[in-house]
Amino acid sequence: MIIDGKKIAETMQIELKELIQKLIPQKPGLAFILVGHHAPSHTYVRMKKKGCLDVGIHSETYELEATISEKDLITLIKKCNENPNIHGILVQQPLPPHLSEQKIVEAIDPRKDVDGFHPLNIGKALLGQEDGFLSCTPLGIVTLLEKAQVQIEGKHVVILGRSNIVGKPLAALLMQKKPQRNATVTVAHSQTTDLPNLCKTADILIAAIGQPLFVKKSFIKEGATIIDVGINILEKDEKKIIVGDVAFEEVAPLCSHITPVPKGVGPMTITMVLYNTYLSFLRHHFQKL
Ligand code: NDP
Repeated sequence: MIIDGKKIAETMQIELKELIQKLIPQKPGLAFILVGHHAPSHTYVRMKKKGCLDVGIHSETYELEATISEKDLITLIKKCNENPNIHGILVQQPLPPHLSEQKIVEAIDPRKDVDGFHPLNIGKALLGQEDGFLSCTPLGIVTLLEKAQVQIEGKHVVILGRSNIVGKPLAALLMQKKPQRNATVTVAHSQTTDLPNLCKTADILIAAIGQPLFVKKSFIKEGATIIDVGINILEKDEKKIIVGDVAFEEVAPLCSHITPVPKGVGPMTITMVLYNTYLSFLRHHFQKL
């Protein structure tokens, strides 16, 4: 079965729109900060802004020159921290090399860190505390599994990739001691030996390595669930196409569930940014949750 991430995300956005309409005259607000001219970053922000428009979130975009100083960028973030109409702040990564991603993320008020990248929110996620923000891609993946009714509890999940934005927070989320989690998690990376055989032990295999079509049918246990996080651009017949980390055509017949690329995890990541902004609004205005 192909898990239709686009459809699930659209349904969730309709539900979110209805919830946001009930907040009128107030509206959640999200600030996008874009530094430089990194083309994929502009595309991601455009897609997230469209999501805001669709569900009724007010958005503001700050497009800054690549030469901006760390001090000026932090000044802007602090203004957004203090702005009562802004409930989420998203600084699109990657940043130019002269800017410290760590310092920039730490300048964001953790209560407005809807990306869930601030060390405080990462710590809360690890501890299983529910008053922080969970990173959007891991949250999107777990939500996708739940909506597709894939059982997580007691299953062996192999995650390919140990990045701070996908692999590590996803492992923390899946291993939480609570219903709908309780997975046994293995995290693999570029130094892991014998990946194909490790992957073959996975009930749920999640690929987030940025290596086009890396996961082959020889990696798959029959009946496994495959979540493909990768977004890779390939040239085919002089056209650019987007592919995941999984060789979908040969892997799909072996699985019980699989996500496509595009229209799999990507739309869920965007939906979780919108959801976290709504959550932040509720926390700011009603001091609950
Ligand atoms: P990073 O580059 O930060 O991390 C990649 C990870 O994969 C690292 O842990 C690296 O290992 C590991 N890795 C790389 N090559 C191999 C290999 N051959 N075998 C085993 N492990 C390997 O990537 P991100 O986590 O930021 O992103 C991963 C992919 O997911 C990208 O394609 C990205 O575009 C996509 N993505 C998609 C999102 C979505 O919403 N769909 C959101 C975020 C990312 P090591 O640590 O040893 O270097």
